[in-house]
Amino acid sequence: MAQLSAPPTSVAADVAKALREIAASARELLYPFECIACGATGAAAFVPGLCGACDAAMLRRDPARPPWLEAAGSAFDAHVVALALEPPASGLVYQLKYGGSAAAAIPLAALLEEAVRSFGLDRRLDCIVPVPAHWLKAWLRGIDHARALGEELARALRLPLKGAVARRRPTVAQGQARSAAERARQVAGAFAVRRRGAVAGRTIGLVDDVVTSGATAAECARVLRSAGARAVILLAAAGNG
Ligand SMILES: [Zn+2]
Repeated sequence: MAQLSAPPTSVAADVAKALREIAASARELLYPFECIACGATGAAAFVPGLCGACDAAMLRRDPARPPWLEAAGSAFDAHVVALALEPPASGLVYQLKYGGSAAAAIPLAALLEEAVRSFGLDRRLDCIVPVPAHWLKAWLRGIDHARALGEELARALRLPLKGAVARRRPTVAQGQARSAAERARQVAGAFAVRRRGAVAGRTIGLVDDVVTSGATAAECARVLRSAGARAVILLAAAGNG
């Protein structure tokens, strides 16, 4: 039986391949891979920043299943909530929000991008707008977490990022509201559109790290719509239900 053999290669191709392998080994020596979610070293998974085990453990939500958004009503024209708020996704959210880790936005944005593309929404969106943090909270935490996520997502989807919504006053943490209706009252009037021209007539991808009752994002969607946005699509990395 004839043996299958590799096609003959030129010396130049062999040298180029060897150089690439040396460069890859040097990269690993200089910057060893460490999983952002669990700290494991070894080989990176397909999702940037994650090891294979964390990538496999991410509870991706069924993109066709609507998330449970008690207070959102019909605030959004569509919504994508990529992951269930369970480990390891919840750990990444915690790192991003309270640990000041911008690196945690990288895998979260990649997983959100995956869900956005699975709907074909990347072709409908005109720009990415993050749900804004109050400047004082962002300063105290060392990061504006939704903006960090929005920056990564906008880069991945090749869309402009617009800080079109401002938070006019700080609001208490979501967890301190006893009900969705109470949360809706807390955030009413908390946001304003900075420049109507940036959003008028546009289909907006409104980004937040986590959506729980949906009240905060719904209030942002309301001000975007009243400033003339054509459509507002909620894009959240993780959520309940
Ligand atoms: Zn890991």
